[in-house]
Amino acid sequence: MRFIYHQPVPNFYSIENPQKPKNLISDDFLNEFEDIAVASRFAGVSYSKLGEEFKKDWNIDWDNIIILKYAMSDEILKMEPSKEKCRLMDVEFQEFGQKTFALADVLRREGFEADLINPLDDRVSLRAIALQSNEAIITRSNMCMFKEGLNLGFFMIKTSIENLPFKTENDMEWVKDHCSTCGVCIDRCPEKVFDEEGKFLRKQCTAHREGCSKCINSCPFYKNGYEKVKKRYWRMKK
Ligand code: SF4
Ligand code: SF4
Repeated sequence: MRFIYHQPVPNFYSIENPQKPKNLISDDFLNEFEDIAVASRFAGVSYSKLGEEFKKDWNIDWDNIIILKYAMSDEILKMEPSKEKCRLMDVEFQEFGQKTFALADVLRREGFEADLINPLDDRVSLRAIALQSNEAIITRSNMCMFKEGLNLGFFMIKTSIENLPFKTENDMEWVKDHCSTCGVCIDRCPEKVFDEEGKFLRKQCTAHREGCSKCINSCPFYKNGYEKVKKRYWRMKK
């Protein structure tokens, strides 16, 4: 199981999927949906369109994905690894899981099919789906980073909506080069999770077992924000 400290999110749907779901959303309703997501304290919304190859690789038959990103609280991330920290992380996870069901209901009410993708289901990788949005990148510390921050958790809804604003190019590729010359997370990792070449050894990381977040707390992306690091990176490149 991917999130060892997370419990399954109970089913909070209040209405059924429509019998004949619509598949085109208006700009106005999409804007309204995004506003509701932000008002529910989500940090942002992204969209992934899964290609035929991807669907075949993961053995799935759905392809329109809404990604709801939430910022993990700074206070919790600053805590030392402990059972209590894992518990608090799960409380946060449950809260946003519940809000995701409410957002799926908003879409159902409007006549769209909308189902939460079970984040604890190992049959499909949410990180792989996140990367298909072209709005995320994997950092050296193995975090799936969006521009809203390094400290993001996310939930996903699969839907009948075909005309979501899917991005086709990723402008975050520079992050890999930045990480190759930074390496702060390697120095700060108490578990020596990186091999001699700086490669991340996932099984040794205690993030999901004990709630370690030392690499997040020391990362320039977390401390300064994506845009500031980007500005500095390109200034140094000139
Ligand atoms: S600490 Fe440096 S190398 Fe590690 S993820 Fe952050 S930017 Fe990349
Ligand atoms: S979460 Fe902790 S153990 Fe895992 S890579 Fe980061 S610092 Fe190392």
